Formats: sequence, C-alpha cells, structure tokens
Amino acid sequence: MPRIVVIGSANADLVLDIDHRPGAGETVLGSDVVVTAGGKGANQAVAAGRLGGDVAFVGCVGDDGYGELLRRSLADAGVDVTHLRTVPGASGNAIILLTPDGENSIIVSPSANRRVTVELLEESRAAWAGAAVVVLQLEIPLATVAHAATTAHAAGARVILNAAPAAALPPEVLAAADALVVNESEAAFLLGGVPAQAAEPGGAAATAVALLDLGPRSVVLTLGADGAVLAARGAEPGHVPARKVTAVDTTGAGDAFVGALAVELADGRDLRAAVELATDVAGVAVGRRGAQAAYPAREEVR
Ligand code: ATP
Repeated sequence: MPRIVVIGSANADLVLDIDHRPGAGETVLGSDVVVTAGGKGANQAVAAGRLGGDVAFVGCVGDDGYGELLRRSLADAGVDVTHLRTVPGASGNAIILLTPDGENSIIVSPSANRRVTVELLEESRAAWAGAAVVVLQLEIPLATVAHAATTAHAAGARVILNAAPAAALPPEVLAAADALVVNESEAAFLLGGVPAQAAEPGGAAATAVALLDLGPRSVVLTLGADGAVLAARGAEPGHVPARKVTAVDTTGAGDAFVGALAVELADGRDLRAAVELATDVAGVAVGRRGAQAAYPAREEVR
C-alpha cells in the first residue's frame, strides 16, 4: 500500500490573460487559452510525487480528453493512478483569469469531481484506509471528505486536512485532522470571520492556537510571503519564514506546500521540520509559472 494517499479533485485549468475583469453585461477579448493539469487534490499528489513520495491518488476524471491529460500528469510524477476513475462526461475544470496586476479570478466547475462519492471510496477502501498519511481538501463532496477523514483517522492514518476552498466542517472532521492546513482567509472563515491579523507573527500564532480549539491535533496556517505558523497541543506555536523569492506565479503554492508536508510527515519528520521543507518547496513553486509544472524535485530544494 502507498504510504501517502491523496483523495480529492483533478481539474483541467483553462488559463487566460485578460486586460481587465469583465463587468456585468461586458465582453472582453482574452489571450489564447492555455490548458494545464490542476485541481487541489491532483496538485498535492503531483507535488508529493515529484519529491519522491510513495503516493496514490483517488479521484475521478471525465472521458472528455482532459481526463487523459490529468491522468498523465499524475502518472508522470510517479503517482499511482490505479484508483483514478474515468467516468462518463466532463472532467472538472477551473477557468483562471489572470489580470496584469497579478491577481487571478477563478471559476471551478467540479463535474467529475462530484462523482467522488462515499460509495466510490468504499469500493477502494483497501487502497487508502490503512495508509500512513491521508490527504484531503474540499473540492469533492463534503460527505466524502467527512467519511474519509473519520475512517482513516480511526484506522490509525495521519489525516492532513487542507480546508480549502473554505467550507463549514463538522467537529468530528476537524477532530480527525493532524494537521489542519489553511491560509489566512480559510482560517478566518473557520473562526467565524475573525481576521487572522497575519501582519504580526504573534497575531497569526494566536489564530493558529484558536484553530486548535476547533479540535485538530495540529494546525499549520500559511501566510503567503510571510511563510507559515504551526501550532500543536502542548507546545509553543512556531513561525517558519518563507524563502526569499521573486513571486512569478503563486497558483498552486498552497498545494505544493501540502504535498511536501505529506511527504515529510510520512517519512517520520516532526511538524516543524515538515513545515520547513514545505515552505521551501512552495517558495520554489511561486518562482516559476504554472501549478504542477512549477513543482520541484527533491534535489532542487534544500
Ligand atoms: P494559493 O491559493 O496561491 O495556492 P494559498 O493561499 O493556499 O496559496 P499561501 O499562504 O498564499 O497559500 O502560500 C502557501 C505557501 O507558499 C506559503 O506558506 C509560503 O511558504 C509559500 N509562498 C506563497 N507566496 C510566497 C511568496 N510570495 N514568497 C515566498 N513564498 C511564498
């Protein structure tokens, strides 16, 4: 059995540059569309695979051509795709609009990702329930995430829950997480809209500790160019600064971070050491264009 199993989404990213975001009723001309492999789950699996992790992916793609692109990208990174299903219909898509100010606007169409159901997971239970580390995000049905988190936790797996995009989660799902990984806006959402005050590290540490009170055994709060803070029961929160890089494209940086974290925790590293490598890997990724295409191999990071 692979030591790391990522259960989640795979999306074909349709990326186009536009001068400005269209307003209501407005039409704008964009660049040619560039299609790349993405989706939080697949990105995290590819990031882990590139680092040499023993990783499998459980998910669904459509039979529309994009499905093959997504499957190939995972397989090329060394990810086991035995439990990646091809289902009739469209693959998940993300339409990513990039404006000259460096901001992006993203529309996700889940399509095949909606088919990652509890029933489907049960069919491949032997492939994930006994893994050392199970990685989850929230681009597949929440009932599936809840089932996987609680089942894997009960079976002794370490559950890395990346609560993105932000969504309300039942207490038993948060309690199954070790670690809960969120960015500042997701943290604010889980805490009921309290601002993360990430500008001062002390504020971010307080936020991470507040997230611990929701039930996870540990919390990692990512802070973009400010790195990440970590908090665990019975220990002082810590701050890991980011790598100093010129950010070229931050798309998928959070996913690179989670994939690296999974590899390090599966290898028995402690949380701080895992967060150090994860910030390094994500730092390399933001210095290059693309999501999966930007993820480094082990020898490219410290
Ligand atoms: P995204 O949605 O863009 O994938 P995110 O919002 O989930 O990312 P962030 O907190 O923005 O997550 O970034 C994740 C990690 O990536 C950070 O903890 C940091 O290690 C790294 N990172 C992000 N932006 C930068 C940057 N400008 N310079 C260096 N490292 C960065």
